[in-house]
Amino acid sequence: MLRFFASLLFVSALSAADLVITARYVVTMDGSRRIVENGAVAIEKDRIVAVGPAAEILKTHGAKPRLHRPDAILAPGLINTHTHAPMTLLRGIADDLRLQDWLERYIFPAEGKNVSPEFVRIGTDLAVLEMMLSGTTTYTDMYYFEEVIAEATRRAGMRAVLGQTIIGFPVPDAKTPADALRRTEAFLKQFAGDPLITPAVAPHAIYTNSDETLRAARTLANQYGAPLLIHLSETRKENDDTQKQRGLSPTQALEKLGVLTGRTVAAHGVWLDDNDIATLARRGVGVAHCPSSNMKLASGIAPVLKLLRMDVALGLGPDGPAGSNNDLNLFEEMDLAGKLAKVSANDPTVLPAAKLFHGHHRRRPRARPAERDRVARGGQTGGSHHRFSGRATGRAAVQRLLGARLCLEGCRRAGRRRQWPRGGPAARAANARSGARARRGPRLRRAH
Ligand SMILES: [Zn+2]
Repeated sequence: MLRFFASLLFVSALSAADLVITARYVVTMDGSRRIVENGAVAIEKDRIVAVGPAAEILKTHGAKPRLHRPDAILAPGLINTHTHAPMTLLRGIADDLRLQDWLERYIFPAEGKNVSPEFVRIGTDLAVLEMMLSGTTTYTDMYYFEEVIAEATRRAGMRAVLGQTIIGFPVPDAKTPADALRRTEAFLKQFAGDPLITPAVAPHAIYTNSDETLRAARTLANQYGAPLLIHLSETRKENDDTQKQRGLSPTQALEKLGVLTGRTVAAHGVWLDDNDIATLARRGVGVAHCPSSNMKLASGIAPVLKLLRMDVALGLGPDGPAGSNNDLNLFEEMDLAGKLAKVSANDPTVLPAAKLFHGHHRRRPRARPAERDRVARGGQTGGSHHRFSGRATGRAAVQRLLGARLCLEGCRRAGRRRQWPRGGPAARAANARSGARARRGPRLRRAH
């Protein structure tokens, strides 16, 4: 009997994968952060089944097709922890302004006039392509018509934590916060259990919502086990106003309202004090650090080193691709996060490249959540990656090669044919197989 099982194992170890990708370097997220020179990754259906030296993997998982990229770095996909994807279509309407001016004088009115399901679909298609070009496989979003964003994301084969926005004034998809809460509940139901989409509840911020709405948003999130996404302490004005109105910082005000009692990702956190950081650490709230946005809007410098010292899960986000950044490139965020931390600490040894690349998740999580939960909590977030032992999200995790050429080839193919894979495993496997066609695809002259 034992021999029977042993032979079964042997046979399965030698079984051909659906796709083997070889690359000059394979970067892993395993315990020792291995980098395999002349490495390979074997994929079966939508799962990565083996990673190691190419010679070994080709022997045990001799797949046809193969994707051979001797000049590429193959790495797990990046996770964007804060953005507003459809704002790609608002790029260029207003720059060089403070957040409040930019939001109130330009963005909110422009959104009121222009944002529709069609706008959101086209904007998300563009955003998804841009994210793929810069190695992102999972993103966290807060916008309107989030169900349309979810469909576009699924079509692209990407993974996302998508938060339906709740805000205290009439917006394109809801006339009142009560409408927005109803919409959010419908969205949570529609995408419950989706393999790629984690639906979330996204009250915009403390300064754009009533206490009642904020409490209702938390109740709804907890009722459906959904993450809650919120902007927090982005500007000094937000802190000053909250302090004036409530005698508390935004973090302490949210804590008092019970908004932090559940899975939460807080974007920005520029003006957090020590007490706030201790509260976030205690509540297990993840922070999305957005250095491009904070610099462009002169919002300030987030206390990243303190957040790390106090073991707050930290990710990176480009914020909206209009006005507050103008792109969705997480490599740029890694670069700026490192430089901003170094110059503000007057110490070039802080936040080294490897730390930026791997991201920070808490050393002592309260529980061992599933991968999607870690993402949603900001627990394994931007500048960090899907583990290679995890699920390959079709086109996303498998083909997101840092070898820019291959990445661009994949994305260009997707853009040209407009035939992105549907969500099912068979389609994702087909998509993984289609990677082999990249060998015959156009060679790009220029890396990005
Ligand atoms: Zn934002």
